[in-house]
Amino acid sequence: MNINVFYIGGDIVELSERQRKMVKIVKENEPITGEQIADYLQLSRATLRPDLAILTMAGYLDARPRVGYFYSGKAEQVLLSDKMNQLKVKQYQSHPVLVKENETVYDAISAMFLGDVGTLFVINEDHCLTGVLSRKDLLRASLGNQDLNAIPVHIIMTRMPNITVCYQDDLLLEGAKLLIDKQIDGLPVVKDSEKGLQVVGRITKTTITKAFVELFLQDEI
Ligand code: ADP
Repeated sequence: MNINVFYIGGDIVELSERQRKMVKIVKENEPITGEQIADYLQLSRATLRPDLAILTMAGYLDARPRVGYFYSGKAEQVLLSDKMNQLKVKQYQSHPVLVKENETVYDAISAMFLGDVGTLFVINEDHCLTGVLSRKDLLRASLGNQDLNAIPVHIIMTRMPNITVCYQDDLLLEGAKLLIDKQIDGLPVVKDSEKGLQVVGRITKTTITKAFVELFLQDEI
């Protein structure tokens, strides 16, 4: 993924190697004159003129008359939102933990611990999604004196068609919005198949947090 891009008149434009160097020089030495930038690069001021115009126009640099160029943090924010709009579910999805409809609540609790997850997906004999089990679903079923080995999960799960899903090519941001809007912790990542929806991954609040942190820790320029 190339983050060093910007938009002019709706067209996506990529920063050249030299332009990236120029932004870095300004970032580290601001305020700095065009002459000084040219000296760093051992080029003439005239050669850099178009690059400086582009970088100023695209918002990477601020130019102040008689002072020089400053680095404008604005560009990084723009880049960050551009980058967020490129992240796909498939880049960040983790493995789903699946249980069969007839497995018991006890089995599901074990699977949740063993798989170290907070949401389980329930599948039928065709391996298609039929339900979701959250931690609280299992806690609720555990209240009282019921035999957890005697209750199949299909009795207590949230079932289709009321399952919120996402697809591998969806934007991660759309998945994050669904988690917030539906007030849930996880989404199954699914693929359409003849018999129903096959579960191929999992997106959770942790996934979103990881992506968020990763974005901020990456070098912007
Ligand atoms: P918890 O209940 O442990 O806080 P959630 O907030 O994820 O976890 O779940 C709340 C309720 O929503 C539960 O009953 C659960 O079955 C259901 N649920 C969880 N994920 C989904 C989903 N992707 N689609 C529909 N319902 C879901």
